[in-house]
Amino acid sequence: MNVILLGAPGAGKGTQATKLVEKYNVPHVSTGDIFRTNIKGQTPIGVVAKSYIDKGQLVPDEVTVEIVKNRLNEEDCQQKGYLLDGFPRNVFQAEELDKFSNVEKVVNVSVDLSKLLKRITGRRVCSKCGESYHVDFLNGKTDCARCGGELIQRADDNEATVEKRLAVYTEQTKPLIEYYEKAGKLVTVDGDKSIDAVFAEICEKLG
Ligand code: ADP
Ligand code: AMP
Repeated sequence: MNVILLGAPGAGKGTQATKLVEKYNVPHVSTGDIFRTNIKGQTPIGVVAKSYIDKGQLVPDEVTVEIVKNRLNEEDCQQKGYLLDGFPRNVFQAEELDKFSNVEKVVNVSVDLSKLLKRITGRRVCSKCGESYHVDFLNGKTDCARCGGELIQRADDNEATVEKRLAVYTEQTKPLIEYYEKAGKLVTVDGDKSIDAVFAEICEKLG
């Protein structure tokens, strides 16, 4: 299956991706995760990406598109397809993706933007496996329930950067809803429901 998870920052794409890859046995390709791995490893891509991510801006298209193109060419994606999370993020990236891959379905995880600031500033992620949590439900726990890794706050999950990321979403990413609707590939799910209810709706709509 070649599926895109579309949605604003904090809509729950990563949370749903963890569950979807288990059910559908498909590789999870998150451009944000790829950039964070590169930043950790202090690679040349990481150095470039960090300067944009810290400001809440998009990493330049020529860097991002190349990374995704290479990743989708790897054997696991060639055999099983992919669950793309965080890519494409603008119309140019979507057009480029259409040139090298056949997108089957796009799941738009829809959440009222006013709820996202609280979701993102309260997000804690596992430094080992990347699993997302929210402080409101952690009861003070500081390690990952899946792998025991340390839970940390992402450097870009502060209020000022989140405001910028939400503005970038509205300007550049939201037009993709219409792009994929016109292509007849869009399904929309209500991301305001519980994690399990959102998952059930996605599974139903993926068929
Ligand atoms: P994204 O990958 O779209 O940026 P995440 O999956 O990391 O978003 O989720 C952002 C935050 O919102 C996390 O703290 C996560 O635990 C929380 N979250 C995810 N889905 C839901 C939901 N359905 N209801 C409430 N909180 C959620
Ligand atoms: P995410 O993990 O999806 O929230 O992404 C974190 C940050 O990585 C974003 O704010 C961007 O700076 C960068 N990023 C992730 N995906 C892309 C993309 N497709 N295009 C450009 N920048 C991206």
